[in-house]
Amino acid sequence: MTVAELKKSGLEILLHKKKGSAPVTQTPELDIVIFLSFILGTNKSFIMAHPEKDVSQIQAKLFFEAIDKRKEGLPVAYITRNREFWGLPFLVTPSVLIPKADTEILVERAIQILEIQKNLLPRPPQVLDICTGSGCIAIALKHTIPEIIVTATDISLDALYIAKKNSESLVNNQIVFIQGDLREGIPSIHGKWDLIVSNPPYVPSLVASELLEDGRNEPILALDGGEDGLDLVRALIPHAYASLATNGYILIETGEYNAQNAATYLKREGFVDIVIHTDLENQDRVVEGKKQ
Ligand code: GLN
Repeated sequence: MTVAELKKSGLEILLHKKKGSAPVTQTPELDIVIFLSFILGTNKSFIMAHPEKDVSQIQAKLFFEAIDKRKEGLPVAYITRNREFWGLPFLVTPSVLIPKADTEILVERAIQILEIQKNLLPRPPQVLDICTGSGCIAIALKHTIPEIIVTATDISLDALYIAKKNSESLVNNQIVFIQGDLREGIPSIHGKWDLIVSNPPYVPSLVASELLEDGRNEPILALDGGEDGLDLVRALIPHAYASLATNGYILIETGEYNAQNAATYLKREGFVDIVIHTDLENQDRVVEGKKQ
């Protein structure tokens, strides 16, 4: 079979839907190109430029397996076990949330803060990432500013296993990982943290269970933030305040629907210079505060 033939049959399968149900993917062509480039070990432009390329039987079998999983609603990233974030290839499995472009807003702001701290502090800035998941935030920061010291935590050992693998392949294993439940406290160090970052579960429980009905299979533990989505944010803020250094910063990703409330909690705790950063769709996404 050829690339063109596989594309055609793959598209027929993905576009064929049960009456009344929504299509499982908005981007069937792109999904197919990603699967083919992944299976043939090429980049996407090669697949688009070479419709005549022969595909072996084993490769065709892998392709149709991937298409079947996609048809059931499994995200492309879980099928290829890979998602690019901050220009880096992350291993992802259903044990971790798939890194999203929105979270790059938090990384961008964290880098601005760290660049300033790097010049002001007499020692390398110390960063703590809470609810690290795939490790995407911690690793993006360490990769961009290698001199920082990064510690990352998660409640899930399965997630930490994936984060550690990403740390090994992307930043030479230069991150310390600690398992823990943030509701019971967060790691503290003698020098205190200069920056705490977190993308905690922040989706209201009812919305989280609805989100997962489409078969996308992301871990509910990483999404469900309780009734208003802010259970973990409320738990995190006092611990973070206590363990930040003076002039230290906190950056938390939130939902567009609860960012304002999260900002209020920061203010109530004593944080100053509160800012809400918006994402690519102009939605409130990241709250920032500074400890005076
Ligand atoms: N908006 C995020 C997602 O859909 C939610 C992540 C979170 O709860 N931290 O992946």
